[in-house]
Amino acid sequence: MKGKSIAVIGTQYGDEGKGKIVDFLSEKADYVVRYQGGANAGHTITVGEKEVILHQIPSGIVRGKKCIMGRGMVINPVTLKEEIEGLEKEGFPVKENLSIDSGAHMVLPKHIDYSKSESGTGKGIAPCYGDKSRKFGLRFYDILNKKFDKFDLDARQNLESYQYFLEKHSDLSDLIEDTSFELYLAKENGKNILFEGAQAIGLDIDLGQYPESTSSNTGVGGILTGTGVSHKFIDKVVGIAKAYVTRVDKNGAGPLVTQIDGEIRDYLRENGREYGATTRRPRRCGWFDVPLVKHSIRTNGIENLILTKLDVLSGLDNLKIATYYENGSKISGYVADAPSLRKLTPHYETLPGWKEDISSCKKMNELPENARNYVDRLEKLLDVLIDISVGPERNQTIIRGNYWI
Ligand code: GDP
Repeated sequence: MKGKSIAVIGTQYGDEGKGKIVDFLSEKADYVVRYQGGANAGHTITVGEKEVILHQIPSGIVRGKKCIMGRGMVINPVTLKEEIEGLEKEGFPVKENLSIDSGAHMVLPKHIDYSKSESGTGKGIAPCYGDKSRKFGLRFYDILNKKFDKFDLDARQNLESYQYFLEKHSDLSDLIEDTSFELYLAKENGKNILFEGAQAIGLDIDLGQYPESTSSNTGVGGILTGTGVSHKFIDKVVGIAKAYVTRVDKNGAGPLVTQIDGEIRDYLRENGREYGATTRRPRRCGWFDVPLVKHSIRTNGIENLILTKLDVLSGLDNLKIATYYENGSKISGYVADAPSLRKLTPHYETLPGWKEDISSCKKMNELPENARNYVDRLEKLLDVLIDISVGPERNQTIIRGNYWI
């Protein structure tokens, strides 16, 4: 009997709460796999009293699942080792459960130096992907081969330091594998696999707000090339959307079409603890953006959407939903170009809010009427099944049905 596989991806600008949902769904998974990005991600998981923040290692590690870091990732071996050590100190076994694909690229000190001057997280992600495309990246294969032999100009100049870097990180050798084949065999043998997206489609290098984007393919396309599985391998795609929208970037340069300022922004920011897990930067906040999430649903084949942080909206008098963008006239769909997006304004519809605390609701029908109406309206506008999350804990998740069947 074959196993099942589910992909969990962000549909907005990241920080949707993917970590919590991956953690929730990974109860029935055997493998949890990351396929793109690197230490620019920051997933926060609450396990009882403990809050665990993961940057590179898949979230399944806190449940003792087999975790894979796919070949589409750019991994910083220095901070990876710190992350492994930190988790082991907290009592989570890592080394026996973690594999790194041999084709994944390594973030080098020079990448971090370059990226300090750029607008990203300063983790060396864009320069590392740049070297990958220019074909003088250092891969985990090179650790196994104990030798770097790509003879381009940059490599010749840096040969000694590259060689030193490989030797310094040879202690990771035991974790390096061909994980594409491992995943294939696992599924054939009935194992369940969960793909954990980082960032989101709004930040995808091709489908998102170029150039105010991340440097990788964050959705289903990234899974295929970033792990070496075929499109037939993925059985279900689950999108994660916050019940409003947030965005964090260094200079506030990325367009946020539905941005809110003033009191309501402050309310959402404090109530939702909207500060970056990696950078601690305050996040900008906005109303729910239907064109963006619809774009993510269409381009990724999303069948189920989980709406997180619905509890954060409690207490607002009214809620707005952007149903389409306009620029003099109605724009249909989304525009994957930052300069073009800056010229657009949202068309809003307004719904009444609710005052009740919903964080202990266990069923959809326990929600106040206006909260239920808000979810139903989004379900209709997006034409997708919506489940919800009403708090950071595992048991604050209302999911109808079993995604693994
Ligand atoms: P990710 O990058 O998509 O995993 O998102 P983050 O981990 O950066 O941000 C999610 C934050 O929201 C974490 O602190 C979670 O514990 C928290 N969170 C997740 N779901 C909910 C929810 O439904 N309600 C509330 N209040 N917090 C949530």
